[in-house]
This record gives sequence, C-alpha cells and structure tokens, in this order.
Amino acid sequence: MSHTIDTKCVQAGYTPGNGEPRQIPIIQSTTFKYATSEDMGKLFDLEASGYFYTRLQNPTNDYVAAKLAALEGGTAAMLTSSGQAANFFALFNICNAGDHIVASSSIYGGTFNLISVTLAKMGITSTFVSPDATDEELDAAFLPNTRAMFGETIANPALTVLDIEKFAAAAHRHGVPLIVDNTFPTPVNCRPIEWGADIVTHSTTKYMDGHGAAVGGAIIDSGKFDWMAHADKYPGLCTPDDSYHGITYAEKFGKEGAFITKCTSQLMRDLGCIQAPQHAFYLNLGLESLHVRMPRHCENGLAVAEFLNQHPAVKSVSYPHLAGNKYYDAAMKYMPKGGCGVVSFELKGGRAAAEAFLKELKLAAIETHVADARTCCLNPATSTHRQMTEEQLAAAGVPAGLVRISCGLEGKEDLIADIAQALEAVKK
Ligand SMILES: *Cc1c(COP(=O)(O)O)cnc(C)c1O
Repeated sequence: MSHTIDTKCVQAGYTPGNGEPRQIPIIQSTTFKYATSEDMGKLFDLEASGYFYTRLQNPTNDYVAAKLAALEGGTAAMLTSSGQAANFFALFNICNAGDHIVASSSIYGGTFNLISVTLAKMGITSTFVSPDATDEELDAAFLPNTRAMFGETIANPALTVLDIEKFAAAAHRHGVPLIVDNTFPTPVNCRPIEWGADIVTHSTTKYMDGHGAAVGGAIIDSGKFDWMAHADKYPGLCTPDDSYHGITYAEKFGKEGAFITKCTSQLMRDLGCIQAPQHAFYLNLGLESLHVRMPRHCENGLAVAEFLNQHPAVKSVSYPHLAGNKYYDAAMKYMPKGGCGVVSFELKGGRAAAEAFLKELKLAAIETHVADARTCCLNPATSTHRQMTEEQLAAAGVPAGLVRISCGLEGKEDLIADIAQALEAVKK
C-alpha cells in the first residue's frame, strides 16, 4: 500500500514483529556473530546479505536509510557520517581520476570546495554552470569524460532554485546521472526523483535531524539510471570488481541496487564515514516529525521575509517563495507547499549595521548552522567569509551587510518582534 509522505515520515523503514521493540533498536555493536566461517564468507562475497562490521553497515542505520528511500521515492539508500561525506561518496562512487563533473555554481561552500579543490587533487576536474544557464550553455559544459551532474534544490546560502527538469534533461542527453542535494526542502517539500534526478543526497544535520543534535548525511538512489547502457563510462559498476571476487555490481544488483551496494562495499569499506547508530536513532526521531515541522519552518520563513521586505532599513530580501523573487515560479513549480525556513537579506547600513543588528537579537542566536528548531542567524562577512575583502565579498554575491536567518519553530509574532526591535536599535 502506498502511504502519504506524512505516514512514511512516522512509520516507514521499520516494522517490528511480535514482541519486538516499537522504537527502532539502537544496535550498539561493532560486530556480529556467526556459527560458521562459511556463513560469514557468504557475506564477504556478497552472496548473502547481513551484517558483519559496523564500519560498513549496521541494522539501525539501515532502518533509517529504508525510511529515507521511501520518503524520496528511491530503491536503496545509505547513511553517512555527514552531508560532506554523502556528496563525496555520491560523486566518487562513479568518478575516477581523469573524469569530469558538471556542477551548478550555486551550491553549499563545503561542496564547492570538495568539487573544485579536493576532487581536483584526486584528478577529477569540474566545470561550474549558472543555475540559470540555458540548454545550450549546459550542453557546452559537458566533455567526453563527464560522469556526473550536480546541483542543490534550494542552494545554501544563495537560495537559488534548481530547475531540476532542465538539469536532468541535460544530464541525460549526455548519458550521465543528475545528483541533487535536497537538504533544504527535504522530501516533504520536494522529491527530486519525481522530476528526473537520479541520485539524491542530504545533510541530515539540517531539517531532518531538525534539533541541532547530530551531524549526518544520506544518499538515496532512484534506481532509474541505466548504468549498463553507459557501461563504457562506468567501469566501476559495469565491469568485474577484483576486490570482490569479480562481482559486476550492475549485473548482480541491477539498476535498483548497484549504486548503493558498490558505495557500501567499496567506499564504506575503504574510507569509513559511516553514521554512528546512535546518530541514526536521533535522525529517526527528527524524521518522525519532519512533515509537521517543515510547514511551520516555511510559514515562519515567509512571514519573516514579508516583514523584512517592507522594512526601510532593509535593502533587499532573498526568499524563493516571496512574491517577486527571481525564483518564485520555479519555487512554486517544484515546491508548491513551501521550501525552507532560511531567508537572507541585506541591510542598507552594510557590515556595521549587520553586526549591530545581530548583537541586538534576543531570540535568534548567532550560529554557523541552519535548519534548527531554534532560530539562528549569521553575517557571512564577519564569520564564514571573514577572510574576504569587501571587493571579494561583492564578487561572491555575499555583500558585507548580508544576514542569513534560519527561522525555527518559535511563534512568528515573537520572531518578527525580535527582528523589529533589533532593526530599531540599528537605526539609532
Ligand atoms: C550543511 C550542508 C552540507 C554539508 O553537510 P554536513 O552535514 O555539515 O557535512 C551539504 N549540503 C548542503 C546543502 C548543506 O546545507
């Protein structure tokens, strides 16, 4: 039976049998016991499925990963230790030295650095394209060695909206999968697979956890990309893996399972980066209320954006669901119920005004974080982008007076009153 997203948030992924725990058990064990070496050997050969060591897989994680697969409409999923690890694994699972990635330029700074600096050191090059690029501009970015396309549904912190259908069509014209980081809207507000994305990633640290409690990430495979149809591009999936006795993942596990199985059995084995079962448990607590929390984050975000938009001390407001925003139509197409609670705005008074404003806030705390139950905010010029000059800040689209506010779950009247009094103090 197919359930609503609300029911999946609460119940998908784990169905206890008679007399078993109602809540997902935390399997706090690094290892698992077997009666014979032969039994264990079958696991190592990927002949049987089961658990042998928590660096690769743990039942608690798999219950939660199964819930995420259900939420995104995928066929397989895995949890990673962080969002950074999720994006690294998603790309590195299909890109080798000598390969190339096309990515939206409007993405999270950590991911931009991962692709442009760290993957480059490993021999994987990249071309960045504007999220607003035309089909011709997108086509021009692809090279014969391109193996993946990457973007964020709502970019952190730029708050641009990815035209998922357009990016997916471009990726598929060139025979590569589209990977979408869906951290900000979460599957409650957008399911990129329904619009053509092949692989979805998350920093579960954000709304999914939702309480600022545990760093984590996830990868979900749509099971739709036909690796074998592009076997020349993906030898790792389509030719025998010598480190697993000659298994060919795309043959043995099909479109539905090859990507996640390879990612688990090779990358988790060799690089670690698994999410602790305890964190998977916290993540699941967050997921159980995700469908109730997201609408409230969006309601508060829109109310704050609308308030700021008419305030004389504010130069501009960026929020995709605010009428008049450049991405309003795309936001309403891909996320008719709302996007997220993150709003950015620029104060007329520049850096000094931003610093004074933040100091006056009583409810919203200054934090390098977003997507938490508690409202938090940041002036990038004096924190994450501190090393940049005024000129560099302007060129990066992060003016000195920019403030990013992540609206939590408090009463919107209280948030607006807090912002109003802080803006009042700035004027003095
Ligand atoms: C935070 C974030 C990441 C990185 O996730 P961590 O869990 O901090 O490693 C990746 N992508 C987006 C969109 C993010 O907001």
